[in-house]
Amino acid sequence: MGRSPGYRPKAAVRDEVLALRALLAECDSSQWQRAQRIMDHITSLLGKPTGPMNGKVEPRCCKVCGYFGHTKQWCPVLKQREERAMDRLLDEDRELRAKIEAAEAERAARPPSPPYNPYTDGQAATFNELRIPFTVQPDIGAIYGVRGEKHDGLWTYDSAGRVVTNSRAS
Ligand SMILES: [Zn+2]
Repeated sequence: MGRSPGYRPKAAVRDEVLALRALLAECDSSQWQRAQRIMDHITSLLGKPTGPMNGKVEPRCCKVCGYFGHTKQWCPVLKQREERAMDRLLDEDRELRAKIEAAEAERAARPPSPPYNPYTDGQAATFNELRIPFTVQPDIGAIYGVRGEKHDGLWTYDSAGRVVTNSRAS
C-alpha cells in the first residue's frame, strides 16, 4: 500500500480513491475488516492528518442495508423501499377513487324510488296483509279502522262486523 502519495499526480490518486470507494461499497457489515483495510488505504492516499483513532478512519456501514461506502441518507435500498411504499399508497388511492366513482355511477344509474304512499306503503301494507281495515289520517298515516266508517285499505267490515273485501279500494 502506498503510504506516501506525495510524488503521485493528483488525478491518479483521485482515480485510485474512486476505485477504492467502489470496492468499499461492495462490502457489507460482515466484511468490516476488509472495509477497514480499504479505508486505511484511502486515508493514506489522501494523506489525512492523524485523527483520534491513531490515523484510522473507521468506515461506517449503512444502518439500512449494512453496506459500506454510503450513509442511510444515500442508501439505494432505502430509496427503493420508500418508492415502493409511495407506489403502494398511490395504488390504494387509485383503488379507493375507483370504488367511489363506481358507487356514484351505480347510484346515478338506479331509478329514483317512488314517493311514499300512505295508502299502500308501510303500515298500510301490513294492515292489508293481515286483513285489518284501516283509514289514512293526513298527519298520522294508516290507523285501525272502526266498524261503521269507510276504510281506505283492501278490507272493511260488513254490517255483521266481519272483515270483507273493501269495494272502495281497487
Ligand atoms: Zn444502505
